[in-house]
Formats: sequence, structure tokens, C-alpha cells
Amino acid sequence: MTPLAGAYAEKPFWWDDAGQQALPEQRPPDSADAVIIGGGYTGVVAGWELARRGQVAVVLEQEHLGFGASTRNGGMVLPGFKAGLQTLLRKFGERGLALARYSLDAVGLVERTIAQQGIDCGYQPSGHLELAYRPSHAAALKASLPAQARVFGDRVRFLERDQLEAEIGSSAYHGGLLVEIGGGLQPAKYHAGLVRAARRAGAIICERTPATGLTRLPGGGFQVVTPGGSVSAAHVLLATNGYTTGLVPAIQRRVLPVGSYLIATEPLEPALARTLSPRGRMFFDTKNFLYYWRLLEDHRMLFGGRASFAPTTVARARDWLYKAMLRVHPQLGGVRVTHAWGGRLGFSLDRLPHIGRIDGITYALAYCGTGVAMATAFGRQAAAFISGEPLPAFLTMDFPPVPLYRGTPWFLPAVGLYYQWRDAMS
Ligand SMILES: Cc1cc2nc3c(=O)[nH]c(=O)nc-3n(C[C@H](O)[C@H](O)[C@H](O)COP(=O)(O)OP(=O)(O)OC[C@H]3O[C@@H](n4cnc5c(N)ncnc54)[C@H](O)[C@@H]3O)c2cc1C
Repeated sequence: MTPLAGAYAEKPFWWDDAGQQALPEQRPPDSADAVIIGGGYTGVVAGWELARRGQVAVVLEQEHLGFGASTRNGGMVLPGFKAGLQTLLRKFGERGLALARYSLDAVGLVERTIAQQGIDCGYQPSGHLELAYRPSHAAALKASLPAQARVFGDRVRFLERDQLEAEIGSSAYHGGLLVEIGGGLQPAKYHAGLVRAARRAGAIICERTPATGLTRLPGGGFQVVTPGGSVSAAHVLLATNGYTTGLVPAIQRRVLPVGSYLIATEPLEPALARTLSPRGRMFFDTKNFLYYWRLLEDHRMLFGGRASFAPTTVARARDWLYKAMLRVHPQLGGVRVTHAWGGRLGFSLDRLPHIGRIDGITYALAYCGTGVAMATAFGRQAAAFISGEPLPAFLTMDFPPVPLYRGTPWFLPAVGLYYQWRDAMS
């Protein structure tokens, strides 16, 4: 049984102190230059950038602003992709390298945005450590070092097993790749800061305003239907990532929604916290079903992951995560959980994010679990694209549909079993 605090709640820990003010009720105008569907990092940054360029940009969010992954995530600002650098280089060569460097620039963009806008989101540039779950994974991480150095220069190092104790109070891992880039933030406060910047620039942001229909206008452009009225615009940006539904079937077929879960514990004794994470790194491991975790400023442990792709509940995910946390840090036995929650990731077949246009609709999504930095960058990139700037060539990649997917991912449990098997056998 997972020990629960008296005030245990199944909602994101971040929502207790989200820094978000209630927005005045706003109906969408009749027309705009661009309508952006989805009010997470991608949509809000796109709206901000379009408004900054003097365009009328309307952001529609079906729930409260930031309802999706952007206020539910682990707050790890990371370069790189789920697909991994070796895969990128093998599949795409120099283009892959350009993509990896783009993700590094995306981290810089987040850091500059926080500094320039004065966003109070507790950002700590602590770097991250990818931990090898098996000896074979340690060998692979070590072998990837020359490629990693092409992207991260002298800010990446391989740590042998006996060097890990300076970084983490756990003997569960066989080595690790330390990248002194990126860090941790409070994701809901970061989102709230982006919303403030977008509104200051003049973006029109409509909460609790779902886009329920989308039609092509005879003279060009689109009409987006909402319960509060319809808005016509030359451009539509789909920024719905893991919350993508059938509004644009051709895009839905390319993005699989996958759940991810987190628990937060009560604050730990400072001395214990220091032994778990002496340098406050962002941690994740090398499994397909990875664990990711970090200590928060007030010494809470935040621990995330998921057991399988089969449907589950927050309570079941919480119990599984608690056991997983004790596997990494047995010292935490008995520590109580205060919050547990989940959210949806958007996955593509090639495990890379995608930006482009299908049937005239612009999209920026499929961050596959590393979207804090990339969604910020793609929001801006999508706005530039809508404004007439071409996409850099390395971003114009094939975006294949997921075979057999039409909105019900019935095959995910089987795919999950396959990845579990790979995790067990590697
Ligand atoms: C539990 C969890 C942990 C994560 N941890 C990390 C991490 O530590 N580091 C990292 O880099 N990434 C992490 N991620 C991924 C990251 O949070 C996402 O990639 C990123 O937030 C995506 O932002 P977004 O704006 O594209 O999508 P979202 O923030 O998901 O926003 C999409 C929005 O679209 C809205 N929407 C959908 N359909 C409609 C419609 N028809 N009309 C109006 N609105 C609509 C939804 O309500 C939703 O709010 C995590 C994700 C989860 C779920």
C-alpha cells in the first residue's frame, strides 16, 4: 500500500501554486489572421509570436488554460528526443545533427524567455543525467559519447558506475551520461508566464472554448466553429499534441496519445534529500518504459513513468510508481505521497516531433515526452511559418501515419508488451 498524506490529492502538484490568474471571459472574434487550437506551450507561444508580428491571433483552449501536458509535466527542460541521438544520426546523417542542435537551441530559448520575461518559475539550470538500466545500456551510452560531443561539446561526460555516487544516492544503475545543459522548472508557472507575455503582445486567448468543427472557406482560409461562435482565418494551427482528436483526421492518424503519470512526496528531511541528489540533477533512465525523477526546491521527490500502455487509473499508476521509486531509492520507504496525476503525451511513429502543413492546416506536435523546450521552439517556428517564412529544411520530414490508427489505439497494450519485453531482454 502506498502511504498517503492526509491531504492527498489526485491532481498536479503544480496546480496548488500555478501562478495563473483567471482570465476575463473572451468570446472568439468573427475573424482573425490565425486560429490556434490548443492552449499549451505550443499554442500560447505561437499566439504570442504572431501577435508580436502584428497579426490577429486567437488561441482556443477547450478546458482551462494549460489543462493539457503543459501544466502536468515533470518540468525537465531537456535537449534531445525520444528517438535518441544515435538513431537520428543513423537515419538522417547531417539533418539529424541539425535537428539535435535545434533541440539544444530550444533549451536556450526557454532560458532566454524566462530571463527576458522575468518568469518566476524557479528555473534551476542543473543539467541532467541519463542512467543506464542494464550493463549493455551503459556500454551503449559510453559508445555514443563522440556523437553526443558533436552536439553538446564539452558539456557531456560518461560516468562509470563507481562515479555515480557523487550524483545520485542509488546503486540501481550501471553508469550514466551527464549533460550539463537544461534543468528544472515549475511547469505551470512557466506556462502562466507565457500566457502573460502572449496577452501583453495582444494575443486573444479564449478558455473553455473547444474547436468543434473546421470547414474550408470557398475563397480560401478556414472557419473554426466553437460553442461561442465561429471565427474565420487564413491559417489554422493544430497545437493539441497528446489531446489531438478527430478534428483534422489526417493529423489525428499521425499522433498517438499515450498516458504518463507522476507522484510527488511530502518534503523530505534536507539531509536525506541531499544524499539522494547532491547536485539536483534531472534524472531519467534508459528503459523504453523509463522512470524520470527529480528533487524539488522544497525537497519533495517527484517521480514519473508508466507501467504499460494498457488503460489504467491514477491510483494504480501511483502504486506502481511508488514501488518503482523504492527500487531506485529504497531510503524512501514510508515517505508519504501528497499528489498523483497523469497527462497525455503525443507520440509519432518515428518518435520525433513534427511541424508542417497537411491539407492547408499547420501542425506542431508529437513531442514524445520531451516537449517543454521543443514545444516552446515549435510554437515560435509555427508562427514564423504561418507568417510566410519557410521551415528549415531539416524540419521538413516525412510524418507517416500510424498504421491501423483511426482514433482508437486498441493495439497499444500489445505494443507496450513488446517494449516491456525489450526492456527485460536488453
Ligand atoms: C506526465 C507528463 C510528464 C512530462 N514531463 C516532461 C518533462 O519533464 N520534460 C519535457 O520536456 N516534457 C515533458 N512532458 C511533455 C510535455 O509536457 C509536452 O510535450 C508539452 O507540454 C506539449 O505542449 P503542447 O502545448 O503541445 O500540448 P498540451 O500542453 O498538451 O496542450 C494541448 C491542449 O490542446 C487542447 N485541445 C485539444 N483539442 C482541442 C480542441 N478541439 N479545442 C480547443 N482545445 C483543444 C487540450 O485541452 C490541451 O490543453 C511530459 C508530459 C506529461 C503528460
